[in-house]
Amino acid sequence: MQTGGTEVAYLKSIQECEIISIEQIAPQIFDMWVKNDVLAAQARPGQFVHIDCGDATDNFLRRPISICDVKSNAVRILFEVKGSGTAALACKKAGDVLDMLGPLGNAFTVLEQYRRPLIIGGGIGIFPLYLLAKQFSEAQVFLGFRCCERVVMEQDFKNVAKELHITTDDGSYGYHGYAVELLERKLAAKEGDIIYACGPLPMLRATKALAEKYNVKCQLSMEQRMGCGIGACLVCTCETTSKGANHYKRVCKNGPVFWSDEVTLNG
Ligand SMILES: Cc1cc2nc3c(=O)[nH]c(=O)nc-3n(C[C@H](O)[C@H](O)[C@H](O)COP(=O)(O)OP(=O)(O)OC[C@H]3O[C@@H](n4cnc5c(N)ncnc54)[C@H](O)[C@@H]3O)c2cc1C
Repeated sequence: MQTGGTEVAYLKSIQECEIISIEQIAPQIFDMWVKNDVLAAQARPGQFVHIDCGDATDNFLRRPISICDVKSNAVRILFEVKGSGTAALACKKAGDVLDMLGPLGNAFTVLEQYRRPLIIGGGIGIFPLYLLAKQFSEAQVFLGFRCCERVVMEQDFKNVAKELHITTDDGSYGYHGYAVELLERKLAAKEGDIIYACGPLPMLRATKALAEKYNVKCQLSMEQRMGCGIGACLVCTCETTSKGANHYKRVCKNGPVFWSDEVTLNG
């Protein structure tokens, strides 16, 4: 990779984003709209922004957050407070200006011949799937959460999906069990012609295995820990099925979306 090219890409991606609104919608989960014409015009489902969360030493590195929705001049992100970066983000107010890099990463591939997607997400992995589900009129969506209190965006997905299935690990809301169990029922009934997934590694592994079992095309979005976000630092590499120099790829630049048969999900 050319260092100069990376620097130019970095500088071109910097966006100043004024916060329009920020709202807590569940324990530790925040829903934020920011104003930015470039992001709104360019963002595609599956891409993310890399956010400068503040000047504390802990937050020297930007934090990647998926683009959840767009409208004419604004972008929506949802985030869960995990550590210092997202905690700093949660303290921001409407009118504050955030420095974001983006839109970054590759997007989900939406193909004319696959119009009946099965879309599966878990936890914070559901956020990039909303903009994706909006691209289809026949999306069947499966969202898995730990428990009732963590269920978010139900109405949003209901508005755009042909079918929405909510599952909770503890059975406190929706189907008691894992979203992949419902996904398998649909695959066994020969419903759906492509799978899109984003969520925790065990969910991605199970989804990849189902795609192989039922011979259905499948794209996975990986939420690896990241450094630079633009392909320079190699913090976020993942193992792929390619041999030789391409055996490891960068999630931030070659992903976060991969075809399921491209990645091993060993890590
Ligand atoms: C492409 C991409 C898109 C993402 N989209 C979203 C999103 O839309 N909404 C959202 O809430 N989060 C999203 N994440 C995860 C988010 O980036 C991390 O939760 C965040 O960086 C944590 O930063 P922090 O400073 O709050 O926590 P840290 O102090 O950095 O970490 C706190 C805890 O979170 C864990 N953690 C950190 N990064 C990740 C990660 N990438 N995945 C899982 N656990 C992690 C750490 O291991 C640690 O246990 C995304 C990650 C990637 C790579």
